[in-house]
Amino acid sequence: MKPLRFLTALWTLLLLTGCGDSAATAEEDLPCRTEVMAMDTIMTLSVYNQPAEEGMEVLRKAIVCIEELEALLSVTDENSEIYQANHAGSSPVPLSEDTRELLEEALALCGETGGALDVTVYPVVRAWGFTAGDYRVPEAKEVSALLEKVGYDRAELDGDRLTLPEGTELDLGAVAKGYTGDRLMELFREAGISSAIVELGGNVQALGAKPDGESWRIAVQAPEGGYAGVLEITDKAVVTSGGYQRYFEKDGETYIHIIDPSTGYPARTGLASVTIVADSGLLGDGLSTALFVMGREKAEDYWLSHPDFEFILLEEDGTAVITEGLEGSFSLFGDWAGRPLEVVRREALHTQ
Ligand code: ADP
Ligand code: MG
Repeated sequence: MKPLRFLTALWTLLLLTGCGDSAATAEEDLPCRTEVMAMDTIMTLSVYNQPAEEGMEVLRKAIVCIEELEALLSVTDENSEIYQANHAGSSPVPLSEDTRELLEEALALCGETGGALDVTVYPVVRAWGFTAGDYRVPEAKEVSALLEKVGYDRAELDGDRLTLPEGTELDLGAVAKGYTGDRLMELFREAGISSAIVELGGNVQALGAKPDGESWRIAVQAPEGGYAGVLEITDKAVVTSGGYQRYFEKDGETYIHIIDPSTGYPARTGLASVTIVADSGLLGDGLSTALFVMGREKAEDYWLSHPDFEFILLEEDGTAVITEGLEGSFSLFGDWAGRPLEVVRREALHTQ
């Protein structure tokens, strides 16, 4: 299986990697760009202000980094560390530095969000058919039996050794792309790059500003298709979790892929999407899932006690809500342009 994966990666690289366009003048101002299929999504990576050869070289390294992380973290690849841990029958499994670091941070975030993010909810996600696409509505007693095995605090991490009790399974899918974004920024920074942007499915992460010094303009998707707004950022991760990204319908009901770990049922909190803006991709990714599960009120409380991120909520009723740190950098767009935009302020929440 390994050589095939490598060939696929190389093929993608040759087909889609390139720098600039021949009509332009200053080579250094042009992006070097590549696209790669990984972690169940299409990833686009662009680095700026690099001579073509250096730019290509750093993109090659970035692809290797993504492939290595996917090989460690995949929940379906029998050779991955996560798969091994999930099938170790409660014996301890040694982890690589990358997996350990990510898991440690992810478990901390599960605790901080009171279990709204729970990296052990996988058996429930699978029962609803979201892992393989064989969608079904499980019976209540099946859900409650599976929930007995769910609980991020059941994962025991002792140094680099992970032990999971029988039946408990890990899935870092809700944070893996965010962590990958952080690693890519690190790699670009170390290569001396000052301007880069990556799109990893619903995650966008930027290093610095655009090559002309302007902010990056990031579109926020509208749940019904098209765009709801535009956000200007530099040096940030922008991560969206939306119910519209993956769902199925049965007997007139819609079931989405984000599961409330306290019930085992798809989160239904009146939110259509949550976008997090943060320095860390991992934090942004974990919180976009967690705040979706929490709903607006708890999300506001969480933001009030955690100063390291901002959010944009799109509610199912068509209201947009942003935290005050995004005032002036976010504006509604297209069909959403005339809709209500509420700004959440610390001062107002404190005095409530
Ligand atoms: P994306 O599908 O874009 O990665 P998210 O980052 O929101 O979206 O992650 C959702 C995925 O994480 C789901 O597809 C599911 O596999 C898993 N998941 C669902 N609910 C939770 C949860 N409450 N905590 C952790 N992981 C979850
Ligand atoms: Mg997420």
